[in-house]
Parts: sequence; structure tokens; C-alpha cells
Amino acid sequence: MPSLANIAPTLRAAGLTVVELPGWRTRTRPGSHAPKGFLAHHTAGSSDSLSYVEWMTYVGRPSEGIPGPLCQIALSRTGIVYLCAAGRANHAGKTRAIGNWLQAGDGNTQLIGCEALHRGGTEPWTPTHYNAYVKLAATVNKFMGWPASHTLGHKETSLTGKVDPTFNMNTFRANVASAMAGSFEEEDMATPAELWTQYRIGGGEADGQTPITTLAQASIYSNHARLALITQAGQITKLLADTAAIKAAVAGVDVDEAALAAQLVPLLVEPIVTELGDAVGLTEEEVEAAIRRVLGSLDNAPAPS
Ligand SMILES: [Zn+2]
Repeated sequence: MPSLANIAPTLRAAGLTVVELPGWRTRTRPGSHAPKGFLAHHTAGSSDSLSYVEWMTYVGRPSEGIPGPLCQIALSRTGIVYLCAAGRANHAGKTRAIGNWLQAGDGNTQLIGCEALHRGGTEPWTPTHYNAYVKLAATVNKFMGWPASHTLGHKETSLTGKVDPTFNMNTFRANVASAMAGSFEEEDMATPAELWTQYRIGGGEADGQTPITTLAQASIYSNHARLALITQAGQITKLLADTAAIKAAVAGVDVDEAALAAQLVPLLVEPIVTELGDAVGLTEEEVEAAIRRVLGSLDNAPAPS
């Protein structure tokens, strides 16, 4: 029987970026652990940092009776796979019975949990994040000898109304099955500009958010994924390219430029600067200036057709 503790080389061979937290191979909660499936979660938080993963691993929520580790694996928006614990973790709670393999009762005995660093709600799943999630689940399944049907979402097993993860689990399982067969096509995912177009076609507002706010979120996390991986030159170029995609996407739409700038600048600048800090080598002023340069030409967009 394969042991999760030996999976790191296989994940790296699959092309994933892997960070092993100290002691992860022997970290466990007390109690039984005989996993037969992969349970996908999201954290419901905005953090994308190692320190958050360390908190989930070493601390958790002891005051609520659920000390860490809160997952075996964590997955950042930049596609980094963190290995937190190879043994039992506090992530699944009680589960319902599913298929002929998952028994009702102790989910933490039967499932390996992955916490994707993701806010849920209206935050889009970027291609970087989603594709890494598919590849991760597929690699874990193959290593452990599980079929794609043994990949579940917490919202499917929960008895307490959990909603994570927000993507469609049937689609995810189909993508995982394709990845296990070597035929998953990563380019199927929407770009931030496409997300905007889909949102516009869908019409109206969701969860009290304006379309512009939704677009900005899509762009933020796309930029996070890029900027976190780019620590040399060219950051401004990447940011400008993505912001230019916003401009192209809103071409022909009746947009209040001042309102757009007022919402985009804090949404784009603050997370980039505060979460990535010195790693990207940009000051807040430089990032804001780059965004304003592109937004400044919005009024040159073509008239609505
Ligand atoms: Zn969950």
C-alpha cells in the first residue's frame, strides 16, 4: 500500500512545485488513518501565504476543538503544493456515505484533504490554480491507486452544509480523469478577460458586487499568480499586459472611467504590495502608476456597436 509520505518526488515529476513543511512525513493527529480518497476544500480566506499554511499545519483552531494539521496538502493560488502532514488531519469532520467505498462516519480516517488557498464566493478560479488542482488530485490518485471517482468535494461529503470548493465537482472529476489518462487540456480555462465577458453576458450583479469588482478580482488573482513567480525584471510589463486585457474586455461597454479606476486601484495595488511585498520589487506607487497609465486611455475605446 503506497504511503502519502513518499509522494513528493512523484508530484515534482508531474511538474508541480512542491514545498515540504518540516516534519510533514510523520505529522499526524491521534487516531486511525486509512485513506481511500481525495477531498477538495478551499480555505475561504484571502491569504496566499506560507505563513497561513504554517498556521493550518502547526496551530489550527484548538479553541474550537480542531487543532492542526487541518489538511495533508495545501495549494496556493500560484500553484505551489505544500505538503503539511502525511498522517491524519482535521479537515473532513463527519461524512455521509458515497458510492460503495466511502462509509458514513469519520471522514478524517478515510480521506486525504487538500486546502486550496481561495476565498470562495465570487473569486474566480484562475487557470494557474485550477489546473494545478486537477494535476495534484490526478497525481495523488495515481500514486495511491485510487480512481477519479474517489475525488470528492467537501460540499459533497459534509453533513453541516459546507460549500467548498466552489467549482463543479462533476467537471472537476472529469478533468481529473482526463489528467490521469494524460489528456487534460489546460487551455480550456477562462482568462480574466473571458471571465469578464461571461459575467457581462450573464448579466446583472452577483452577491452585491458590481461587474467591475468581479473583473478586478479575476485580474488580481491572475496577477498574483504571475507576480509571485516573477522576481526579476518585467513585472510592470506583465501587470500592464493583464490590465490591457481589462481595457480590451471593456471596450464598447459604457464604463465610468473614474469609477473603474477608483475600484481597480485599491483592489489591484494593495494585495500585490501587501501580500507579495519585496518579492516583486515594486513600490505601491509604481504599481498604481502602471494601472493608471492603462486606465488613462480607456476613453479611447471604440463606441458601442
Ligand atoms: Zn472544507
